[in-house]
Amino acid sequence: MAACTKRRRQLRRSLAIRDGKRCFYCEAPFADLADATIDHLIPQSVLPGWRQFNLVLACEPCNNRKGDTLPQVFLRQAAQLADRRAAVRRRTGRPAVARPRAARPALVAA
Ligand SMILES: [Zn+2]
Repeated sequence: MAACTKRRRQLRRSLAIRDGKRCFYCEAPFADLADATIDHLIPQSVLPGWRQFNLVLACEPCNNRKGDTLPQVFLRQAAQLADRRAAVRRRTGRPAVARPRAARPALVAA
């Protein structure tokens, strides 16, 4: 178990040297590399293994949102969301904020 943790720590350091000490997707900097997750650019279901060319550092929210999708699909969705948020900001002068799930109207009336 300790070897695995040590290997992941070394891997995070290598990826930070290669790509920078930030999330590959949103570019948020990592104050501490221990906060970074290791993401498989091409999902393991498509390209199994831990080869470095297929690994990037990602913040936990980006890694969770990306899940098992291909990077081009995830990045396209992220760009579309950023465009929609920018449009709301231009229209209202305020940042777009997602409504909490509980505040959304029910789809089917009881
Ligand atoms: Zn991120």
